[in-house]
Amino acid sequence: MKNSGSKQKTEPQIIPRPSHNVSRKEISNAALKVLYRLNKAGYQAFLVGGGVRDALLELHPKDFDIATDASPDEVRALFSNCRLIGRRFRLAHVRFGREIIEVATFRAASNGDGDHPDSALDTEGRILRDNIYGTIEEDVWRRDFTCNALYYNIADFSIWDYVGGLEDIKKRRLVLIGDADTRFREDPVRMLRAVRFAAKLDFKIEQSVDTAIRDSVELLRNVPPARLFDEFLKLFQAGHAQKTFQLLRDYKLFQQLFPETDDYLNKDKVFRQFVDSALINTDRRVAEGKSITPMFLVGVFLWAPVRERAEQLMEDEAMSLPQALNAAGWDLSGMQQSRISIPKRFTAPMREMLALQPRFEKINGRRALKLLEHRRFRAGYDFFVLRAEVGEADEQLAKFWTDVQTQSADERLASFAVQGGKKKSRRRRPRRKRAKTASS
Ligand code: ATP
Ligand code: MG
Repeated sequence: MKNSGSKQKTEPQIIPRPSHNVSRKEISNAALKVLYRLNKAGYQAFLVGGGVRDALLELHPKDFDIATDASPDEVRALFSNCRLIGRRFRLAHVRFGREIIEVATFRAASNGDGDHPDSALDTEGRILRDNIYGTIEEDVWRRDFTCNALYYNIADFSIWDYVGGLEDIKKRRLVLIGDADTRFREDPVRMLRAVRFAAKLDFKIEQSVDTAIRDSVELLRNVPPARLFDEFLKLFQAGHAQKTFQLLRDYKLFQQLFPETDDYLNKDKVFRQFVDSALINTDRRVAEGKSITPMFLVGVFLWAPVRERAEQLMEDEAMSLPQALNAAGWDLSGMQQSRISIPKRFTAPMREMLALQPRFEKINGRRALKLLEHRRFRAGYDFFVLRAEVGEADEQLAKFWTDVQTQSADERLASFAVQGGKKKSRRRRPRRKRAKTASS
């Protein structure tokens, strides 16, 4: 059997340069520099992971991970532009301008009995620390999928394959190294990685892995929410959001990430279409090299529960719609934090974007005109257009907001039926008592 357990010692299949298609042209100069310098200093230096995998698949890798027998301190001694990071998994970051090359020292598997200070598992078998250094023969077994466990040797440009990864890449199948249940227990995030790679690479998830995921989804509860935010970004911002989402739903992983949302996806067809449009839109933006912000999709996912909660608040607490949307935004983003901890710099604009929605319904007068200057106008507008696309908002209104953006100042006064440009004297309305919000 090819992938049986961490203690196994095997010889790699070594594929010489003329027999594979990984060219140095596909590897960034920064990564090459790091590889060469390690090698020159007498260390082993391999490109590993996504860099090799994507190059083999002709996907033009952008992210490069290096594995070496040099310890993190030895790596740091070689590079002035180097920082050691991570507690759970200590590694070196070598920086070249904007590009960061990750250099990891070969790891040995822990025996799991907790007698080593550099390795630790929790009571459910989840890896808390993985810092026992080892050899390449040991390192290979702790990697997740066979396609991610190919090592490109800078010494002679050959590829070392211990796990049949090349064959699996050729057959486009996602095969987990070792016993699937154990590997998911060690690190439940691997289930999300499985889905992410299957979507990105168009690989078929092997049957035993498929089954193990379905049996293990609940384990995601034990993963720290901060780590899930990092993973959320990779899942939805890599240009394959729609396909990733479908797989996450199919495996019931999505409900672990967005429990409040999942229910609405099952019962509300329009909302499902809305989410789908947003994902297609996100993928298109990524493909066109346009900027994206995670707050937009989080807002999309939370929209249905926010709306329902807002309706309830309007009824129970006599809030206005914008007030209620804002309060509901607080409630839902608060609940969401227990799963995925979304930084404030994203939740705050997300709440604003959602609370702005009713203002797109009004197109007369100064206040409507002023919406164009609101700092969340752009996001709020994009969101409104998506709602119109699925019939949840008025298409004519969406078109109005599209058109006014390209109009001159005078044309806008006419569009918004603003009189003469002169300000009307403002009558002060008596202040209304603030309604209590349910969130405080
Ligand atoms: P990409 O960079 O495209 O997301 P990648 O495969 O390079 O894909 P990274 O997160 O950069 O993924 O990790 C680099 C390599 O480290 C992986 O290819 C895999 O070999 C190993 N690895 C990363 N995360 C895990 C994990 N949770 N469990 C086991 N191995 C992992
Ligand atoms: Mg990588």
